[in-house]
Amino acid sequence: MSIIKLHDLHFSPYIDKEKIATIVKHLARTVKADLPENEVPIFVGILNGCFLFAADFIRAFEGNCEVSFVKLASYEGTKSSANVKELVGINEDLTNRTVIILEDVIDTGNTLQEIYAIFKDKNVKQLKIATLLFKPDVFRKELPIDYIGLSIKDKFVVGYGLDYNGLGRNYPEIYQLTTPPKMKNIVLFGPPGAGKGTQAEFLKDMYNLVHISTGDVFRFNIKNQTELGLLAKQYMDAGNLVPDEVTINMLKAEVEKNTDANGFIFDGFPRTQSQAEALDAFLGEKGEQINGMVALEVPEDLLVERLLERGKTSGRTDDTDEGKIRNRFNEYNTKTAVLKDYFEAQGKYYGINGVGSIKEITQRISVVFDTL
Ligand code: AMP
Repeated sequence: MSIIKLHDLHFSPYIDKEKIATIVKHLARTVKADLPENEVPIFVGILNGCFLFAADFIRAFEGNCEVSFVKLASYEGTKSSANVKELVGINEDLTNRTVIILEDVIDTGNTLQEIYAIFKDKNVKQLKIATLLFKPDVFRKELPIDYIGLSIKDKFVVGYGLDYNGLGRNYPEIYQLTTPPKMKNIVLFGPPGAGKGTQAEFLKDMYNLVHISTGDVFRFNIKNQTELGLLAKQYMDAGNLVPDEVTINMLKAEVEKNTDANGFIFDGFPRTQSQAEALDAFLGEKGEQINGMVALEVPEDLLVERLLERGKTSGRTDDTDEGKIRNRFNEYNTKTAVLKDYFEAQGKYYGINGVGSIKEITQRISVVFDTL
């Protein structure tokens, strides 16, 4: 999950799919447990917002039930100027039935109160309300809310059926309103030896960004013989990736050290799909995002040559042995290369020809950076 933009506003991740599913299942079970045996309730969803919640809730409800949807439509009275509200869509005879209203979110309770009053007139046996989300800080009514999935702060939320001016209903997660991102965060991407580190050194000054190279941080830890360094060394020496959990935690710590940065150039991170997802989630929680992945595209044979050449002076043991170098490419091709698709799917992938002089390539990258 990462930040989304709907019309003019930005929204950051708030409740993920798994959590929503847990809440909805729990609600369905609780409602079922309270019903007398053999009671067949009528669930009435309040459109439009509840359509995803209602669908999931009803699927999770174990027992017979009927389902209906209503919409509260307002029209101008012909004589008075007051808004008259009418419930559209209820055709069933509700006499002596157990009616359970399904709402996506209850805030002030204004709409709900009108709906409640209309149903109360229909001689129902029981009228109950189940809502996915509830905002206790703004609720101003005396109505009983029988089942609450989750109480939330008074923030504007979208996704999972909820919209902002018509958009956002189709997202499977829930997002909350946030301020526009302030940072420029760029992933500098490419296989080992593509020149990411070299380019990042120029770009960080040109754009006033903080450069984080996970490889450099690992090497720093190895040099200082920290616990992290000792752990990472065994993987790095063999040209293997360091496990995700270790790398992700280290990356987060590096970002937290620079809270007032204008943004970051991530070099050598993410290198796996789960690192990319963790980075999106981590930045999303801060109301920030990855603006783009800029990839240096260089043929593999040229890279092996470059790395062996670099190994003569870099002092890096993983640069001197062709077998280890090949293994690093193997890791890249099997675990890292897929990230092109990941960022392309978000419309954030920018491939750049990485063959040429250092200056030429900086120039090519900066053309892209300027647009991000
Ligand atoms: P680099 O300096 O980016 O070429 O990285 C050197 C080595 O550090 C890699 O071969 C890995 O063993 C380790 N490493 C650096 N970044 C990561 C990462 N994001 N995930 C896992 N391992 C990494």
